[in-house]
Amino acid sequence: MKKDFLFSDINLLKGVGPKLSSYLKKKKIEKIKDLLLNLPYSETDRSKIFKLNKLEVGKIQSIKVLVKKLNFPRLRNLPNKIICEDETGKIDIVYFNSREGYLRKLFPINEWVVISGRINFYNGKYQITNPDYVITVDKQEYVIKNIPKYNLTKGINEKKYRLINEQVIDDLPEIKDWLDDDFIKANNLENWNNSIKNLHKKKDALNCHSKSYRRLVFDELCANYLALSENRKRIKKNKLPKNFKNIYSNLIIKNLPFRLTESQKKVLKDINSDLLSNKKMFRIIQGDVGSGKTIVSLCAASNIIESGYQCALMAPTEILAKQHYELTKKILINLNIKIEFLTGKTEYKKRKKILNGIENGEIRFLIGTHTLFQKKINFKKLGLVIIDEQHKFGVKQRSDFSKKGGENCDVLLMSATPIPRTMMMSLYGDMDISKITEKPANRKKIVTLSKPEKKINELWPYIEKQIKNNNQVFWVCPLIEESAFLDYSSAKKKFDLINKKFPMDVGLIHGSLKQDKKNEILKKFLTKKISILVSTTVIEVGIDFPNANLIIIENANKFGLAQLHQLRGRVGRGLNQGTCILLFKEGLSKNAIKRIKILKNSDDGFHIAEEDLKLRGFGDLIGYQQSGLKNFRFADPVNHEDLFKLAEKYILNIRNKINQNKYIFLLKLFDKAEIINIEET
Ligand code: ADP
Ligand code: MG
Repeated sequence: MKKDFLFSDINLLKGVGPKLSSYLKKKKIEKIKDLLLNLPYSETDRSKIFKLNKLEVGKIQSIKVLVKKLNFPRLRNLPNKIICEDETGKIDIVYFNSREGYLRKLFPINEWVVISGRINFYNGKYQITNPDYVITVDKQEYVIKNIPKYNLTKGINEKKYRLINEQVIDDLPEIKDWLDDDFIKANNLENWNNSIKNLHKKKDALNCHSKSYRRLVFDELCANYLALSENRKRIKKNKLPKNFKNIYSNLIIKNLPFRLTESQKKVLKDINSDLLSNKKMFRIIQGDVGSGKTIVSLCAASNIIESGYQCALMAPTEILAKQHYELTKKILINLNIKIEFLTGKTEYKKRKKILNGIENGEIRFLIGTHTLFQKKINFKKLGLVIIDEQHKFGVKQRSDFSKKGGENCDVLLMSATPIPRTMMMSLYGDMDISKITEKPANRKKIVTLSKPEKKINELWPYIEKQIKNNNQVFWVCPLIEESAFLDYSSAKKKFDLINKKFPMDVGLIHGSLKQDKKNEILKKFLTKKISILVSTTVIEVGIDFPNANLIIIENANKFGLAQLHQLRGRVGRGLNQGTCILLFKEGLSKNAIKRIKILKNSDDGFHIAEEDLKLRGFGDLIGYQQSGLKNFRFADPVNHEDLFKLAEKYILNIRNKINQNKYIFLLKLFDKAEIINIEET
């Protein structure tokens, strides 16, 4: 009953009407428990009472004054004014839009009041306009102290928020802790009830290493892992094993112009044994850019088809899907299998035909964009869904895919985003993971160079030579995140400059371009109608540009290492040597030099991701934020590495007890219950 209170709508609290509740909801404070998790980010010092001759303009200060006179001008637009004093001076308290009756109550003449607010100076006099607090002297300890500061929005001030927040924090329902005292002590944590109090009442929220903060982090991690583990349990249900003898896949492998790496073989073996087992496959292939994930997935697909099932491959963009389609047709050419391509743009007639073929089972392999999973598409006998480069998919979407596929459908994901070890479990804990750890043997390491931007002119002859040799060039401008306009204008400027040097041979892609236009330019580049592509970081992940051998990255210190590595992975995919030139603004910092060194010395995305995490810290991992991987509010893999490990171990003890109310409470607290659809019993 008491616990239910925490999950009730905030409008249950005194003082929260429809208007305030809508403001709070904008701040994602919807249920009462959301107040607990909205931590103060600083505090305001109102702890000292200042004499009026000790005021500092611009500061927030508290004063104790005698009310002398109330002044209510009858003219419009003139503010109401209360004249106050102490032994050392005078001050005006000024109100716009406040009613007379209200102010007369607040400021009884010839009585002392305590006021706190920002000090102004106007017409030779101190004043406070719309003070934060006015309170009688006997209640002064409510104000005269350090007061936690919350991120608020329009429509809510500190006083109001306190009134609401304190109804909950001061009167917190005692929750029976789901962690043992011994465990709490041993791991430098705090019990639940204290930790919430301390986070709001003491400074514990301001220090991510405080026991209370760590406790919240641990809870957040456990909730996350618990949800993933439950998701996994639900997906890995029984299915009919697939039935194949690798006839198709051996044929494919035999006809490849290269040999599979040991790593690719190992991953294919993992997948095949999943397909042959009587549990649904839910596996992700993680492999650096260019490690050859596609061919592995196509071998798996061919086994599915050999088993008499259909296969669907989904890519995030039309161009990538098309590339997969062309490749698949080429690779499966001798197998006499009907393969089709479907996107949102497929025209009506063709689409209808494809949908028919899918329904009657004639089409064995369907490749396309997310369109593949619309309701209207009914596979006759879908056996495998392959999803490429969709690291943005959350837990819920992953489980939806698995469901849509049907009870005999295996699921395989592929991602080139290298995840630091600490975060692996929190992102992919519901899946089995196969890593491709080596690159194809013939792949040349990309030469990585750095150059000060001042010497940009030295690049032109070099680029000219590249183009003459039939090579293509990427030019990456830094993304200006705050403003699509600035972003566009800086990329456009660079485009104009380069276009002057290489007229008619340059294309420009930026964030605010429509997908159609983007595709058009990408196609021009792919078909070699232009030699240079200027872009912000939006160069589509996964697309093979076999002729691009040079990438120039401007303002390279703006990017994370992992991101730079991903970017340079766009070149050197064909037979020629790939080169990456990092341009820097001016004299390189020590850190920047360190970072270039790491890039120069390693072409292992996983290693680089680890180093990136160490050097920049989690908050700075722009690449991860962009890719939607930053999925914690409190936990940080740099600051709380030990807790990530601890929670990983701890979850093994509790993952089968998810139906106990205390764990459901935990899931609900962090909004994980809906994701896996679980309710208290
Ligand atoms: P990614 O893992 O980034 O998706 P791809 O599957 O697109 O990489 O492969 C990149 C390129 O490497 C493709 O042109 C592919 O044909 C080639 N490739 C894949 N495996 C090998 C291998 N074992 N040896 C040589 N080249 C390979
Ligand atoms: Mg790929």
